[in-house]
Amino acid sequence: MPIYDDALESYVRQEFSAEDQILRTIREAIPRRGLPAITVRPEEGRFLQFLAAASQAGRALEIGTLGGYSGTWIARGLADGGKLITLELEPAHAEVAQEHFDMAGVADRVEIRIGNAHELLPDLSQRGPFDFVFIDAEKEGYPDYLDWTLANLRPGGILAAHNAFRSGRVADPHNHEDSVDVMRAFNQQMGADPRLISSVFPAGDGTAFAIFRGS
Ligand code: SAH
Ligand code: MG
Repeated sequence: MPIYDDALESYVRQEFSAEDQILRTIREAIPRRGLPAITVRPEEGRFLQFLAAASQAGRALEIGTLGGYSGTWIARGLADGGKLITLELEPAHAEVAQEHFDMAGVADRVEIRIGNAHELLPDLSQRGPFDFVFIDAEKEGYPDYLDWTLANLRPGGILAAHNAFRSGRVADPHNHEDSVDVMRAFNQQMGADPRLISSVFPAGDGTAFAIFRGS
């Protein structure tokens, strides 16, 4: 019998997620605008805000903007004068996200870069080292995103990666979908890398997270 069931999820959301009207409007607009409904959940967003604040993020990076919901949470956790750069492959997603960052009053702190993150990241090294990195784009890319992140995070910086659970499929030994195998390998590296103190936030679809001790 799982403890963290739907009732407890609702309870946690009510007591801790602190989603205001702006965030709610953004979350609800995303599927209405024809974007996939794969935005992080409110309690996951709150956790990202917490991690951004815990890392005292002046330089934050997100890989996978979608409609700007997680980005708005992260932007609200930045240190004074901090900036979030967020990467998005689909121009149509970036357009919706820009509207949402404008609406949330965080557009001065958020810079969307449109393109394939694998091509954008090499140039972004010069904008680092980063205090906080959130990985939430295509799952097959996670191993490369992790390598880049570990080379571009400051000691004491925090990284987080969404969908660590793949809807629970990572724990099914019979499931060998590519994205599930990739996520298992990713989680294993997060858990075993001696440069990281890591764990997973088990709400929603799981957010693997770690503080980087340095190389
Ligand atoms: N972080 C968002 C959800 C991101 S969904 C939130 O919770 O609000 C994943 C996004 O990554 C999609 O918008 C998708 O277009 C984008 N994406 C997929 N592959 C990408 C790539 N290679 N480079 C950049 N963005 C990518
Ligand atoms: Mg996700």
